[in-house]
Amino acid sequence: MLLKETQEKLLPTLKKYFGYDSFRDQQQEIVESVLSKNDNLVIMPTGGGKSICFQLPALLFEGLTLVISPLIALMKDQVDGLKANGIAADFYNSSQESFEQAAIFEKIYSKELKLLYVAPESLSFLQNIITEEYISCVAIDEAHCISSWGHDFRPSYQQLGFLKQTLPNTPIIALTATADKATRADIVEQLNIPLAKQFISSFDRKNIELEVRPANDRISQIIKFIRKQPNESGIIYCLSRKGTEQTASKLKQNGINAASYHAGLNFAERSKTQEDFIYDKIKVVCATIAFGMGIDKSNVRWVIHYNMPKNIEGYYQEIGRSGRDGLKANALLFHSYSDVIQLRKFMSGATNEDVQAAKLDRMKQFSEANTCRRKILLSYFGELLAENCGNCDVCKNPPQFFNGTIIAQKALSVISRLKETEATGTIIDVLRGAHNATVLDKGYDKLKSHGVGSDISWRDWQQYLIQLMNQGYCEIAFHKNNALRLTSFSKKVLFDKEQVNLTKPVEYKEPVTSEKSS
Ligand code: ADP
Ligand code: ZN
Repeated sequence: MLLKETQEKLLPTLKKYFGYDSFRDQQQEIVESVLSKNDNLVIMPTGGGKSICFQLPALLFEGLTLVISPLIALMKDQVDGLKANGIAADFYNSSQESFEQAAIFEKIYSKELKLLYVAPESLSFLQNIITEEYISCVAIDEAHCISSWGHDFRPSYQQLGFLKQTLPNTPIIALTATADKATRADIVEQLNIPLAKQFISSFDRKNIELEVRPANDRISQIIKFIRKQPNESGIIYCLSRKGTEQTASKLKQNGINAASYHAGLNFAERSKTQEDFIYDKIKVVCATIAFGMGIDKSNVRWVIHYNMPKNIEGYYQEIGRSGRDGLKANALLFHSYSDVIQLRKFMSGATNEDVQAAKLDRMKQFSEANTCRRKILLSYFGELLAENCGNCDVCKNPPQFFNGTIIAQKALSVISRLKETEATGTIIDVLRGAHNATVLDKGYDKLKSHGVGSDISWRDWQQYLIQLMNQGYCEIAFHKNNALRLTSFSKKVLFDKEQVNLTKPVEYKEPVTSEKSS
């Protein structure tokens, strides 16, 4: 419980230092939880207002709040912003002169400083002050970087588990915009904060219309798309540097004001493109994934994925850069099998290849889905949307559904009989009554449900299981051999006779394409 005295300071402090009249969504609950010294995991979409969740408590704590952030390039801006609001904040990194660093230590020792931003690599230089005498709170931004289940793993984050050990009574608040369920569990485990309170905001961005199209003749499709709204800003994500350059040059040949952006350009070139985009001098940027992190442009009207993203977290984060002003925005993804194959090749040999491959698989299933795409996105992040969204291509042009409750019940009961330990292949084998080695070895042929689905072909079962996953009735445990397991929604089907609507599987034909893949 929070002292009444502290409670009464919240709104005045919010107003005084940040100029806001009220908290947004869960901000107040989170702030109170931090001040009550709980550990916390906060999942909130980009632009949701994560910063207040640790910056405001920092002002009310006695000592220093240590902010761990991977984005050294952005630290100075963030700190300057805080200082401009009259907040005693600073950052520490290895590029600073030793007198600057000494001044920071001085401010810590005299307990003047409220917030210190630091990259994980620099923590070892701060050993002297990482004690409960000086530190009141630890905020870990972009916390998904700690997990190899996440989509942006950074080894330097893996050492952060020591913080809880060194500062057992100090609250930790870990924040990120993207983490699926497995990643969340991993963050909590690695940071040694098993009792962390989890605050998970809705991921729904209703204003973004979702659309997936087959990847044939992408350039002409893109040109048509842009010409429908020629004065709006947009980002085209490509897989390779060459891809960004080729796309930009083809657009320019067609009179569209476009530039490319990738890590091969020098700093000045990149800054110029970024600035021109922010100030609307360039309307279209063709970029690799590096573009957009940390830029705060609210009127990006559309995002196109020229190539398939490698997972749903990345896709979601990238489309989330459009429509931040809450107005209508468009996300168009081109679905290409050759991209999937290419991405799969990039992953081979990686330490977490299995996880990456399974995530790519989910991305592919999203692209091939014939159920509301927003439902799929949200169910991936653990949210169930009750109604179809009405703002995706599937909703706008729906396939024909039939009552598939019995099919769903059969599949879910087999998953349950197999104790949620088997991946799709074995589940289908059991459903179809196969007598192969795995089935016999494990005695699955003796299960009551062995063979309950023998009337449905292997390929169709595969489609149905994907549809069930896409609707949130079961999910993949990426870190447990991709076993399928039940969700809280499965029970409604198994025990409450909830109706499940499925569509007849269709043969997906590789579209005839006139372009060569680059
Ligand atoms: P995130 O870190 O989640 O991407 P930020 O903390 O940068 O989000 O906040 C996003 C935007 O929302 C900022 O422009 C911030 O000024 C604004 N914001 C945050 N909290 C509030 C609030 N309580 N009232 C009004 N605006 C807010
Ligand atoms: Zn929909």
